[in-house]
Amino acid sequence: MLNINSFKTEVQIDSPGRINLIGEHIDYNGGLVLPAAIDKKISFSFKKNGSNTCEIHSVNLNSSFTIDLSEISRSESEWQNYILGVIYHIDALKAGSVKGFDCVFESNLPIGSGISSSAALECGMAKGLNELFNIGLTDLEMIKLSRDAEHTFVGTKCGIMDQFAVMKGKENKLLLLNCDTLDYKYIPADFSPYTVVLLNTNVSHSLASSEYNVRRDECNTALGAIQKKYPEYNSLAEIEPEVIEEFRPILPEKVYNRALYVSREQRRTLEAVECLEKNDLKGFGDCLYRSHEGLQHLYEVSCKELDFLVDFSKDHKYVIGSRMMGGGFGGCTINLIQSQKVDKFIEKVSDAYRKMFDLELTPIEVKISSGVSRSLHRLKK
Ligand code: ADP
Ligand code: MG
Repeated sequence: MLNINSFKTEVQIDSPGRINLIGEHIDYNGGLVLPAAIDKKISFSFKKNGSNTCEIHSVNLNSSFTIDLSEISRSESEWQNYILGVIYHIDALKAGSVKGFDCVFESNLPIGSGISSSAALECGMAKGLNELFNIGLTDLEMIKLSRDAEHTFVGTKCGIMDQFAVMKGKENKLLLLNCDTLDYKYIPADFSPYTVVLLNTNVSHSLASSEYNVRRDECNTALGAIQKKYPEYNSLAEIEPEVIEEFRPILPEKVYNRALYVSREQRRTLEAVECLEKNDLKGFGDCLYRSHEGLQHLYEVSCKELDFLVDFSKDHKYVIGSRMMGGGFGGCTINLIQSQKVDKFIEKVSDAYRKMFDLELTPIEVKISSGVSRSLHRLKK
């Protein structure tokens, strides 16, 4: 067992969660997304141990496990797979670079709520090992191998947005990322006089990961059918809504709806960025509302708790935009609320939510912060 109190840290890493303003379920469809890293994070302490084994401890789960570096394979335990996957994929790129180490981490990110505690875990591990053993991985290599870890060890076929945002986030900047080419640019995130507030429904439906993979398949079906006639398209996101409509008669209804959502969301994301550049925050907020409508009715990844929160916000003028954020079927809504009214709104919406579902809502005010970074050594002598 690791002795956490006498742990002599060599490398200390902060790895944040992320929000996504708009462009939901778009990363694996090769489109544009608008995420940012936030001020809630996982803090990791790493040290070498001179052996061929690794000991890892999650303070939140109060759980540890040991890895033998000579035989890395999947575990029965989900959280261990994020870590095993990262080590496996670093080794695939730079064989023998990871040696024995101990690691303790603690998080103030809600787990499984769409703020990507998973990417924070993967990228924090990757960055920590890169620093501890001077492996020389680039940010892009760490982004990709973290995503690969989630695909191969955890079994979620996630896109690349979460890892990108966690790794590349900057204070007060949104990342406009093209998930097809991986080109990106920073957009100033000045929402004043509004504040970004997440409302965690505290429901996490088991549907999330299975339906996620179903949506990916449905989108691939749509793209495949369209490519038969128009082979020039590489991704669903780039296809104009009018072209999608042409395929309405031949696509199954649900597949058609998924494709239409993706095509529209791509264009909404561009519209939202234009609004931000003109400082038209109300226009930006309206894009969020329309995004939610698409996620609710066409993409069908919302749930009654999320819909309730978005609908409730519409009756309050000082909320200018709201939508579900993340994979869906639970997790959080993201809201733009006039800063002075945040407390008042939280009180009202929490009461209404409690009455409706007999559940507590968790509000999370977020600041847009930097991506994974090495923090000051906390060397305990
Ligand atoms: P999200 O990324 O939205 O938080 P996911 O379901 O993708 O939700 O990832 C959550 C999973 O990540 C958890 O079930 C757990 O396996 C792992 N995880 C996240 N944070 C921690 C932590 N502090 N300790 C251990 N495992 C964690
Ligand atoms: Mg995740």
